[in-house]
Order: sequence, then structure tokens, then C-alpha cells
Amino acid sequence: MEFSGYKKNDIVTVNIEDIGNDGEGIGRADGYTLFIKDAVIGDKVKAQITKCGKNYGYARVEKVVTPSPFRVSPKCAFHRQCGGCQIQAMQYERQLVWKENKVRENLMRIGGFAAERINAVMEHIAGMEEPWHYRNKAQFPIGYDRDGNLIAGFYAGRTHDIIANTDCLLGPAENREILEAVLSYMKENRVSAYRETTGEGLVRHVLIRSGFFSGEIMVCLVINGKRLPAEDKLVETLTKLQFSERRIVSISVSVNTEKTNVIMGKKIRLLWGNEYMEDSLKVMNLSGHGETEAAQTEERIIFRISPLSFYQVNPRQTEKLYCLALEYAQLTGKETVCDLYCGIGTISLFMAKRAGKVYGVEIVPQAIEDARENARRNQITNAEFYVGKAEEVLPELFERKGIRPDVIVVDPPRKGCDEKCLETMIAMQPERIVYVSCDPATLARDLKILCGGGYEIRRVRAVDQFGHTCHIETIVALSRIK
Ligand code: SAH
Repeated sequence: MEFSGYKKNDIVTVNIEDIGNDGEGIGRADGYTLFIKDAVIGDKVKAQITKCGKNYGYARVEKVVTPSPFRVSPKCAFHRQCGGCQIQAMQYERQLVWKENKVRENLMRIGGFAAERINAVMEHIAGMEEPWHYRNKAQFPIGYDRDGNLIAGFYAGRTHDIIANTDCLLGPAENREILEAVLSYMKENRVSAYRETTGEGLVRHVLIRSGFFSGEIMVCLVINGKRLPAEDKLVETLTKLQFSERRIVSISVSVNTEKTNVIMGKKIRLLWGNEYMEDSLKVMNLSGHGETEAAQTEERIIFRISPLSFYQVNPRQTEKLYCLALEYAQLTGKETVCDLYCGIGTISLFMAKRAGKVYGVEIVPQAIEDARENARRNQITNAEFYVGKAEEVLPELFERKGIRPDVIVVDPPRKGCDEKCLETMIAMQPERIVYVSCDPATLARDLKILCGGGYEIRRVRAVDQFGHTCHIETIVALSRIK
């Protein structure tokens, strides 16, 4: 059926006005919306329609008629095939403008907030000084190319074909040598790679995590079996590597024998070194708040990180994000703070430095163990952690323990907060709420509920954690209307 007047294989010329959630260009032909892969905002393209739906369709670029002024030549040769950097062909500054606009649009469209209100509270996105080599964590699939050669690399977008590339520009330079070392160990000891199609073969992924401040590196091989042949040889190969500023401190395997897309197995077995790596984050004062000695002397919080725990992937931007969270919370030293979705206690411990008491809540028991250990490690005694769902633990803290927080911080996964959680937050009547979000759509949905419950948005700022990708991180400050 043709609703739009267009059909498959038609050729259209369109101006690209926006970018979709997966990085595809969006343009309109006579009002009919088309999603066009590999087109950049500002391009005029000739495209062939590949699929026609009722309200929108998909097309493929035939020719860029007039290239966008925001087009740049991508640094990575694989960016079009790789599923990682969807918008690398767009100038970084323009990526930032797009992300900021995306937050604004979501707040208006889904949140129902007026443009003037948003403009009054929205601050400029905090971009990266250097949008390359920023990631501290990478998981490389191991497999075979068409000729049967052993390779490490990345999944091609939307598929599980592996593109051989050990030199991803988003991660640290050492990753390449580590991967080459793993591959050479595998070749020398005839270790097979996992084949997803048959479920046979041994090595599935290599996880590499790096402490940007500590210089510690953790390597974990995810395997489809109990052990690797010649595990000592792997250790020997890896520990021989020498880097100028970093060193490997932990080598482990994770057993994952399931046929699943989940990368890591549930258990970790240490082969060499420490079970954890450590890194630290700087507590910065971004504005005049709390002018203590911290403004002069550098204050850092140390975190232990296990292969399975969540830790933000962009440490430099995370410092900015957490310090903004601290600033938005406006702590004077006396406040009670609840940090929901606290992971290994990162934001909680930042808050604990400036608050009277902090309660952290997180669903993963291992992460809470890490959070408690992190508190001890940093001699922080005013933080308490609870395992469980935020939407179940928060009502208990409220009703059973009678806790009345001055500030509630939330940092939920992409699906946002549970409604029960939002209702309880409103019932607890904290003076301020700080919402850290990795999905502007669910953020807007939840802010609508909070603002319907007596809160108003005071500040909004996107902080770019994921340059060259479509992911958007945002932080919002709300206060209770008296
Ligand atoms: N604030 C932390 C972690 C943020 S990621 C940091 O910045 O490092 C979101 C966290 O929410 C994850 O650790 C995840 O395990 C946790 N989580 C997911 N659903 C949850 C729920 N219903 N209740 C509590 N925690 C949850």
C-alpha cells in the first residue's frame, strides 16, 4: 500500500534536518519522513527508498548532492561498518549542539514543558576537551574472518559479524597491544575462538578496563568453558607487556557457556594479580559552593572496580558530572541524602563528603559490597548502603525507618524510574531532587510526574560522556515549590 505517494526504489532528494536515535539522518520528501543512514545534518542527499511505511520510510544515500558544512572526514576507517560511533562523520561541536537540542525537544514533547521555561533553566552542554581515547572500558569480541583467521574487533552495526580492528580510537592506545598479545597466545597454544552460530569454540570476548588516574589495567577473558589451555602462558604473555604510564594488575577469566548476547558470565576466576582494580575521581568545585580546603588541595575518592561492576566509562566527564551533582544538591554539611541506583557508591561517596548522612540503594548485591568497601577505603563513615530495588527500599526507608531526606539523587538505567519510586520521592518531600539520566525520553517522562507532584525544574545540563555516539547524559536539579 502507498500512503505517502512514494514506493520502494523511488529516488528522492532531501535535506537532512535531524538525526534519529541510532544516528541515521532524518529528512522530509513532501512532508514524508525518511530515515537515511550515513547522512549528516545539513547534507542535501539523493537517496533511494528502501522501505515505505505509513508514516515514515527508510532510504539509502545514493549521492551526497551538497555536503553539510558540519561533515568531517572520520578518523576511524571502520566508522561506517562499526556499530559504535554512529555520528563520527559530524563535527564534534555540532554533535554537542544536537545533543543539547535533543534534551530540549524531549522536555517539551514528552515532558510537556514550555519552551520559555526550558530556555530559562537550560545550561550549555559540557563537552569533552578531547573527544578521543576517552573510554576506560572496552569489550572486544574474538572470532574469525571469512578466511578463518583469528581476529579481535567490533560487531558491525546491527549484526554480530566481527570487524577486525584492535585500534579503536575511543579507547586507550594500550588496548591494541593487549589484544594482539591475547591473539598471539591463542595462536601459539591453539586456543579456539567462540562461534556464535554453532556455540562451539572457547574465547568469546576480552574485557579491558583502565584506571585513567591510577594507571591500573584489568584484563578479563570471557570463555565458553571452565578453563583455558596453558593459562600460565596467557599470564606470561600479558605480564611481559610494558607501557609507559600504565600496567596490568589483574588477569582473570569469566565463564559464560550460555547462548546469549550478554557478554560477561556471572563468575570471575582470577588467574593473576588482584581481584579488583582501583581508580579515583577528583572532587572538584565547579563554582563557588563550599569553598573549603578542597578548593586548594586536590581531593580524590578511590574506587575499587571488579570486572562485573558498573563504573562510568568516561572518567574525565564523570568528574564533571558528579561535581555538578554535588553543586545541584547544594549541600552545607548537615543534609540527609538518598542516592538511588547508586552502583558502587560513586555519587553517594561524593555526596557524603559534603552531607550529614547518605543512604545509597542499588539492586546488585556485589555493587553494594563494593560500595561499602569503597566507603571504608576512603574513611567515609556517614554513608549506609542497601541492596534492593529503589522502588521497594525507598518506601521502607520512609515508612519504617522514618527517614526524611533533604536531597534525593537518582541515576537510573535507560528505562528511568519506576512510578512507585517517583511517588515515594514526592511523598518524602525532599527540598531538592537531582536527576542524572542516560535517556532524555524517560527523563522527560519522569520529570513530568515529579513536577506534577510539587517540584519545579531549576537547572538542566547535558554532559557529554559518549562523544561520536548518540548517547546523551543529562543532569537536572529540581526544587520543591513552597
Ligand atoms: N550512580 C552509579 C550507577 C548508575 S547506573 C554511577 O554513576 O556509577 C544505574 C544503576 O542502577 C546500576 O548499577 C543498576 O544495577 C542499578 N539498578 C537498576 N535497576 C534498579 C532498581 N530498580 N533499583 C535500584 N537499582 C537499580
